[in-house]
Amino acid sequence: MANNVSVLFTAEEIARRNRELASELASSMTENLLIVALLRGSFMFAADLIRELSLLDFHPEIDFMTVSSYGNGSKSSGSVKIDKDIKAEVKGRDILIIDDILESGRTLSFSRKLMEERGASSVKIAVLLEKPGKRVIEINADFTGFKVPDQFVVGYGLDHANRYRELPFIGILGSE
Ligand code: 5GP
Ligand code: MG
Repeated sequence: MANNVSVLFTAEEIARRNRELASELASSMTENLLIVALLRGSFMFAADLIRELSLLDFHPEIDFMTVSSYGNGSKSSGSVKIDKDIKAEVKGRDILIIDDILESGRTLSFSRKLMEERGASSVKIAVLLEKPGKRVIEINADFTGFKVPDQFVVGYGLDHANRYRELPFIGILGSE
């Protein structure tokens, strides 16, 4: 089933990059940190990144939020809504939002605004992947794993119709 996925980043490359990201993060984060991981696409990245942070003796509070674009399919539509909210108190906290991929910027711009409206002291963003040149809303991540070409990628948490999330690598989904 994964034979129509061509590998972009291997499990080893991802692990190495996560270690680098964790040390970048650890040097700029505070003890007051609340991590908000956006489900479902970021679950594998968040788990690995947070484990790397723990190895650097960094122990944040962790919560999860599910947001989605209206509509379905691989083209995301205009608006974003909350499917499942976090329980944690945001006011006065330093927030790190973790997501799988930054494309149009709608998901992360919505999520960042939400945290700001709830009184976060600071909001930073870490994404596994970024597609340059696809932004509809101007927004940048503070920490980025890899840049990817403008093609549909799956694996390592990223799906197509909820398949391929289990792959330990990131690849480009072929047509058949
Ligand atoms: P944005 O709101 O920045 O347009 O898109 C972010 C969301 O769109 C991601 O969290 C992800 O769910 C989805 N997405 C965008 N590009 C891709 C892609 O190439 N592959 C997969 N699997 N999801 C994508
Ligand atoms: Mg997503």
